[in-house]
Amino acid sequence: MEKKFIGYLWKGVAPSRVVVLSWKFLFDRIPSRVNLARCNIVPPGETISCALCDAQVETANHLFLFCDVSRGVWFLVMRWLEFSFTPYSSKSMCIWSVEVVER
Ligand SMILES: [Zn+2]
Repeated sequence: MEKKFIGYLWKGVAPSRVVVLSWKFLFDRIPSRVNLARCNIVPPGETISCALCDAQVETANHLFLFCDVSRGVWFLVMRWLEFSFTPYSSKSMCIWSVEVVER
């Protein structure tokens, strides 16, 4: 499914910055605080908590899927688009995206 999604991603009509962000999310290349700390860009002792909620460690999955703030945004966007889907993993987002494109 992810291969199919990646194919749609590069051949789709989404703006290139959306494609690049999606690709970075799928391959965990988002500059989250955890990834920045892994590259020693966040100094030792600095917080790696989520910038939105400060309740969890900031990973890409947390930022896009599990953060209460992000989930609230997803809910509003999906309601605006008249979808009932709430993403719970990067794979679920891929499956949902492919289903939307194939409609
Ligand atoms: Zn958060």
